[in-house]
Amino acid sequence: MECPVCKQRMQVKTIEDVKVDVCESHGIWLDKGEVEALMEVAKKRGEHEGLIKNLSYTMDVY
Ligand SMILES: [Zn+2]
Repeated sequence: MECPVCKQRMQVKTIEDVKVDVCESHGIWLDKGEVEALMEVAKKRGEHEGLIKNLSYTMDVY
């Protein structure tokens, strides 16, 4: 997948068993299913607060 902003190929990383696309310049990009999967994990653990903030941002962009 390419970054919607800079059109560069993004790295695929696995966070909590969810595959996400990461642009070095613009952060994490997710489709809706991936966002929900990560939110679930974060809710259960009470972790990744910074990540959730990031996700909210990328959701707005989508
Ligand atoms: Zn980018």
